[in-house]
Amino acid sequence: MKRDEVIDTIMRWFRQGGTNAYFGEAVTQTEHALQSAHLASTSGASDELVAASLLHDIGHLMRGLPEDVAKRGIDGTHEDCGADWLERHFGDAVSKPVRLHVAAKRYLCAVEPAYLASLSAASQLSLRLQGGPFSADDVRRFEDDRYFGEAVQLRRWDDQAKIPGLKTPDLQHYRSALETALKLGGKTS
Ligand code: FE
Repeated sequence: MKRDEVIDTIMRWFRQGGTNAYFGEAVTQTEHALQSAHLASTSGASDELVAASLLHDIGHLMRGLPEDVAKRGIDGTHEDCGADWLERHFGDAVSKPVRLHVAAKRYLCAVEPAYLASLSAASQLSLRLQGGPFSADDVRRFEDDRYFGEAVQLRRWDDQAKIPGLKTPDLQHYRSALETALKLGGKTS
C-alpha cells in the first residue's frame, strides 16, 4: 500500500468512529488519541512512538466496538486487532508498543501498587477482563521484551490522556510523524 493510502485510511477511521466516547471516560476516542500523541511528542518521543501513541486504540475504531464493551463483560482484545493491522504497514517500533500496551498495564499493576490504585474505575474494570495484574514470572518475561520500555511509556501517556477539554494539535498535525514512521518501517512506498 502507498503511504498516503495508509494515512487516509487511518484518518477515515477517526472520522467515522472517533467521536464515540472513550470507554467510560469524559473524552472521545479522537481526543484520547490526540492527547496520547501530544504527551509522547512533548516528551521527546521518536516519530514511531508518537505514531504508536496516536494509534494505540485503533483496534477499537476499526471494529466499531460499542462504548460499553467493558461493562458488558467482553474483552475486545483491541490491542491485537490494532497491532495486526499496523504491522502490515508499519515497523515493529509502532506495532509492538501497541500490541503490548495492555500487558504494560498488567505489568505496572504488579510492580507499582500505587499505579493500580490510581487507575480510573473503567480501567480497573477492564483490568479484570484483561487477566488482572501479572504474576512474578510474567513480570520477568515482560521486562525481557525488546519493546518493554516503549510499551510502559505508551501506557503512562494512555492513562493520562483523559482530560476533558484539553487543547492539543489536531490529527493533520501528525501526518508527518505517520509518514516518517511508515518510511522507517520500510513496508510502504
Ligand atoms: Fe487508550
